[in-house]
Amino acid sequence: MTMDMTFLGTGSAYPSPHRGASALVLRTDGDCWLFDCGEGTQIQLMRSQLRAGRITKIFISHLHGDHLFGLPGLLCRVSLNTNPNPEQNLSCVDIYGPQGLRRFLRVTLGLTGSQLLFPYAVHELEPTPEQSPEEGRLSLEMTTECGPLHPQEQLGRTISLDISSDCYLLFEDPKFVVKAFRLFHRVPSFGFCVQERDRPGRLKTELLKELGLKPGPLYGRLKAGESVTLESGRVVLPSEVLEEAIPGRKVCILGDCSSILGIGPLMLCTGADVLVHEATLGNEQKEKAVDHGHSTPEMAAAVARTCCALRLVLYHFSQRYKPSSLQKEGDEDCVSELRRQAEEALEDSSVEVILAEDFLTLPIPLRKPK
Ligand SMILES: [Zn+2]
Ligand SMILES: [Zn+2]
Repeated sequence: MTMDMTFLGTGSAYPSPHRGASALVLRTDGDCWLFDCGEGTQIQLMRSQLRAGRITKIFISHLHGDHLFGLPGLLCRVSLNTNPNPEQNLSCVDIYGPQGLRRFLRVTLGLTGSQLLFPYAVHELEPTPEQSPEEGRLSLEMTTECGPLHPQEQLGRTISLDISSDCYLLFEDPKFVVKAFRLFHRVPSFGFCVQERDRPGRLKTELLKELGLKPGPLYGRLKAGESVTLESGRVVLPSEVLEEAIPGRKVCILGDCSSILGIGPLMLCTGADVLVHEATLGNEQKEKAVDHGHSTPEMAAAVARTCCALRLVLYHFSQRYKPSSLQKEGDEDCVSELRRQAEEALEDSSVEVILAEDFLTLPIPLRKPK
């Protein structure tokens, strides 16, 4: 299965002509999962190779506008790209995000009279008080749902923190387990961990032939982990005839933060193939960054080191950092300096540092068997 990640917006605070507001797409075999949806994401999407109609799940890290203002418009855009054939049973777009998101969508879609051709459900994560300063917590009146469901809205789940693992289980299916975890920011913010399940290794066909097994349903049963009994009575165990399992990939995408809450998330992110971490300002502005609930390259590097990530991708840059391609001689704020700062902090490790730019597509290759 192919897996890659495309950055649609890598700027913080607002979209600018040279950097879109936060949004990235994780693509697995053509299915697109969108992480954050800043203003202008639909235009960025049209300028990319991705297709809006392929978005099946959306994850919103927190309710700041630079991560959310694009969502109602994007949903309408996806609807335009949807085949209106009434025979077709359209699947529900699942949207995950902090408490308040359900109300935000119901109000914006409702007041604008926006109808969608597909159903959607908002699954809300319950934040805890430790995730932000007191002024960042939303009052009950702000997050309480209001009015009836939007005509295309299906009932979503409310997901609470699992105290034992310090994480939120968003969903699991035969291919993936997706969890969220708590971050500290000016408002409650979350990180997401997409864990692909390990897959069985290839069948040792030569050995199977020697055992007298012909290709067919029995091969499928062995691959699915079942034992098979031959006519002779000999039991063939999957472990005998399967090569080593193919380890699942792990992708961790953190929303805005100045720190991660708890040990559980660090364990969850251990060994990530890709860790996407914000680096809003350079190390020399650490105090300002932390004051605003943000991180520096050095802080992002420390997380990547603790988690033994293979690759650290920096994004969510202050708009003062122009993309390298637009950099002019004498420009003071140089985005490549942010990479240098992270690399310096990871000098004695094997973590690779990547600077995200709008429209960068990062392939996430399969891992070799352990
Ligand atoms: Zn932001
Ligand atoms: Zn923010």
